Amino acid sequence: MNPVVEAAALHRTFGSGPDAVHALIDVSVRIEPGEFVAVEGPSGCGKSTLLHLLGGLDVPDRGVVTFGGVKLSALSDTSRSAFRRERVGMVLPVVELISTLRLWENVASSLLLSGKRLVSGRARAQELLEAVGLGHRANAFSGRLSTGEAQRTSLARALFNEPQLLLADEPTSYLDSVRGDEVLRLLRDLADRGQSIVMATHDPRAAAFADRSVRLFDGRVDEVPSVG
Ligand code: ADP
Ligand code: MG
Repeated sequence: MNPVVEAAALHRTFGSGPDAVHALIDVSVRIEPGEFVAVEGPSGCGKSTLLHLLGGLDVPDRGVVTFGGVKLSALSDTSRSAFRRERVGMVLPVVELISTLRLWENVASSLLLSGKRLVSGRARAQELLEAVGLGHRANAFSGRLSTGEAQRTSLARALFNEPQLLLADEPTSYLDSVRGDEVLRLLRDLADRGQSIVMATHDPRAAAFADRSVRLFDGRVDEVPSVG
């Protein structure tokens, strides 16, 4: 089967001269359809940088990212942004919801970027909120959510466009273990139903929900065989 995304020999350096930070050094990964892969490693090892390159939010200095057969570096910045909006969903550690919008409106808010009316996405937003256990809160304003509810809402929002790849960057780092496990179980369920997921985490407990781990250390893949 063709991979969802394949990264070959990625290098990404920030800054130059003596201040240069080699965030990724010769990193190659391949994500198969339906796989749930954890990118593990300590803070600063390059996890977020790798997620950004896999999703086309950033481009490598060297190496190639091929997403669904498309070489991302061959796209212009504008085409790459459009490609990413259509194919990639992203969940971040700190959730930013629009407090003046209802939950379902936040979930559907990507419609606004393409100039469509929110109401056209209402049924889908409701369905997604139900899937994350928040169907009964669909009309609430997002400013009143707990952090766990906000993270589940952001997961529903990330899924709105049926992304081929869901990127979750430390999705549980601001949640207690009960709320964190709710989010991780949702990710696990999604993967079991065929969603491809790459999750960055420094927490081995979170990584245990994934099918396998890629471990980074100082920007390089740590070649210790992973379990699971
Ligand atoms: P992680 O997500 O594992 O904590 P990151 O990928 O965010 O690590 O960062 C890897 C390294 O690259 C760190 O040293 C970080 O400071 C540096 N870095 C990341 N993004 C930038 C940037 N936009 N500008 C400068 N340095 C950056
Ligand atoms: Mg990070």
